[in-house]
Amino acid sequence: MAVPQKKAIALMSGGLDSALAAALTRRLGFEVVGLHLATGFCTGKGRCDTVLAQALALGIPVRLLDVAEEYLEVVKRPRFGRGQGMNPCLDCRIFMVRKAGELLEAEGASFVVTGEVLGQRPMSQHLPALELVARESGLGERLVRPLSGRLLGPTFPERMGWVRREDWLDLQGRSRKRQMELAQAWGIPAYTPPGGGCCLLLERAYAKRLRDLIREKGVDALTKEDFALLRYGRHFRLGPKVRVVVGRDELENAALLALAGGHTLLAFPDVPGPVALVVGEAGEEELRLAAELAARYSDAPAGAPVRVLAQRDGQTRELWVTPWPKDDPRLRRLRIDR
Ligand code: SF4
Repeated sequence: MAVPQKKAIALMSGGLDSALAAALTRRLGFEVVGLHLATGFCTGKGRCDTVLAQALALGIPVRLLDVAEEYLEVVKRPRFGRGQGMNPCLDCRIFMVRKAGELLEAEGASFVVTGEVLGQRPMSQHLPALELVARESGLGERLVRPLSGRLLGPTFPERMGWVRREDWLDLQGRSRKRQMELAQAWGIPAYTPPGGGCCLLLERAYAKRLRDLIREKGVDALTKEDFALLRYGRHFRLGPKVRVVVGRDELENAALLALAGGHTLLAFPDVPGPVALVVGEAGEEELRLAAELAARYSDAPAGAPVRVLAQRDGQTRELWVTPWPKDDPRLRRLRIDR
């Protein structure tokens, strides 16, 4: 790298801590460019919008980078384990920091900033975990956590004499009180909620669906289309290789329609009803079961036969089925993500 520049890349998740870390770095006189990595596992609670609003308020440019394809490998084969859901937080942190590190030269920046706070998260923010991320990402002292910097090892900007140790903060633990005060004082706009509520991999239902699919197909066979389908609907298992996914609202119905390729699409032409997908090679009996199950979520009157269209590969079949009762015990038994 040429002459080190007083410039940092700040990873910005849309959360408060990463925005504060970027803000503090800026306040210490560094040029800062924000970086948001879109992994495909955001819950869709406006993270990108939030990052843009935060960057605007801080007066810094921000890069949005789609890393969804590469990130699937992190989710499939984490080296350092998972949290309570399917969240591979340590591998995820390493991946993100490494990605930011890869951009240092192109951006003319000297170090990477994250919003990690010592002791805030049990899996990924205790001291050995923070050290592991610095080591495994290859960034070492060029990875800076300004919010806890006083409590951590020396960093590149300190060695260069650009900042003093006491310029960093000494935040520690799970309390958000000081962060909230700083956000107000520094004019950081609305941020996504703390505690990782924006990561699908933390969600219990999503984790159940993913574990179930790994049992069915094995991790190597999982595709990005598989992961996309896991985002939506209620999931039921009808056989070792057959699932049915039933949309819960208009948005999910639209998403399932878009993902219908290669699956059997069930639709209700005569009554308001969900979009459902039968995933896998369903036999005659499984197809009928799927239609009866999906019909339970339609507006068809109880006990009355209803017409279902089953479409696949340009072929359409018509089935007449009787919807399962709303409290049919099979619903609970077959549900993957209850
Ligand atoms: S909660 Fe999700 S986004 Fe956050 S570190 Fe863990 S895996 Fe990554």
